[in-house]
Amino acid sequence: MAFEGLSERLQASLAKMRGKGKISEADVKEMMREVRLALLEADVNFKVVKQFVNDVKERAIGQDVMKSLTPGQQVVKIVHDELTTLMGSDVVPITFSQKPPTVVMMVGLQGAGKTTTTGKLANLIRKKHNRSPLLVAADIYRPAAIKQLETLGKQLDLPVFSLGDQVTPEEIVTQALEYAKTNHHDFVLIDTAGRLHIDETLMGELENVKTIAKPNEIFLVVDAMTGQDAVNVADSFNDLLGITGVVLTKLDGDTRGGAALSIKAVTGAPIKFVGLGEKLDALEPFHPERMASRILGMGDVLTLIEKAESQMDQDAAKELESKMRDASFTFDDFIEQLGQVKNMGPIDELLSMLPGAGKMKGLKNVQIDEKQLDHVEAIIRSMTKHERAHPEVLNASRRKRIAKGSGRSIQEVNRLIKQFDDMKKLMKQMSGQMKGKKKGLGFP
Ligand code: GDP
Repeated sequence: MAFEGLSERLQASLAKMRGKGKISEADVKEMMREVRLALLEADVNFKVVKQFVNDVKERAIGQDVMKSLTPGQQVVKIVHDELTTLMGSDVVPITFSQKPPTVVMMVGLQGAGKTTTTGKLANLIRKKHNRSPLLVAADIYRPAAIKQLETLGKQLDLPVFSLGDQVTPEEIVTQALEYAKTNHHDFVLIDTAGRLHIDETLMGELENVKTIAKPNEIFLVVDAMTGQDAVNVADSFNDLLGITGVVLTKLDGDTRGGAALSIKAVTGAPIKFVGLGEKLDALEPFHPERMASRILGMGDVLTLIEKAESQMDQDAAKELESKMRDASFTFDDFIEQLGQVKNMGPIDELLSMLPGAGKMKGLKNVQIDEKQLDHVEAIIRSMTKHERAHPEVLNASRRKRIAKGSGRSIQEVNRLIKQFDDMKKLMKQMSGQMKGKKKGLGFP
């Protein structure tokens, strides 16, 4: 999981402060020594670390904190605020052109994830902003690059403009823009050439493309796993080309955090999107505040809610709520929920968004086996319609049949039915308590 080491260490040093009724200057200094080391170890740029530590110290030693009733909490809040500021404070949305098409130039080194991200971004913009994107294959040096973009286009059902590899990128872009206008594509994404290193020829070519395309955005795609290198690359591209935003890829890997925490501070360019997997929907707008909360173990409940909402329509949610209330929840509902949870993404990623998830020691070592969910699904699918709606009829011989049908053991079948019963009981209790509370709240 991304930022794991950093997250653990920061949480450990903050935990010492949290409960304190009184905080001395020495306490703050001691904590900041640990924070400084944690950041350096996460490969955060040393200048950024220095500034960060000074900013937090200055605020934490301030009179207001020392005199407040909850100084420990205040310090945690300051660290959270400063981490957010470091990563850019606000979400920076994409700039759309007043006059279509909006043109986005994608740049980056080879292997950073540029081509994949071009596809992901087009997909996201089509879905979220209802635009009609055109992908432009302008990387003529790596023959596979054009093919790769075309394959992505097919997978996503998006048009790809290409003239092969015998035409200059400048010519390709000129013609692509014409094509976009005549065919009413209001969002053009140009996949430019990547290299292994930054060199003059590449930069010269990118500058030419920039002059012709007059892009509204130049997005630099960098690999979060490369830490400080990503920051250096961003700095060079920014100097030469003037980037308007960064897309940080592979944040689903076990990156230490250096790139995410340093790029904005070093280059001034905001991180606009993050790549969270190889799948084509694994791209999300970057929320600095939510990321800070996640790093400090406060969870990212907002993202979790958004994910859930995008998977479930309002009517389905209401129906589910009422079923939970009167405990008429069946195995059919259960399997539907399972499908929705699976669509939300990898389970361990979802769990990491819960507040305090980092502190649940056991959680880290639990390999959440998504196969288990498939097994549960197989068991439920082996039940008859009547059994799913009326689990109380599941006697020994029926359970035996279900085990056979699903290829699972009888113990597993028993366990699932028991868990389901327990869950129903819990729902009943909870809804009882809620009703009680509501009554209690009434005015006399
Ligand atoms: P390019 O050379 O910069 O165009 O890079 P590609 O788009 O070909 O990507 C290089 C590799 O990184 C591919 O295997 C992608 O599937 C993978 N990749 C891209 N973005 C992500 C991401 O956010 N997470 C993960 N895990 N892999 C990614």
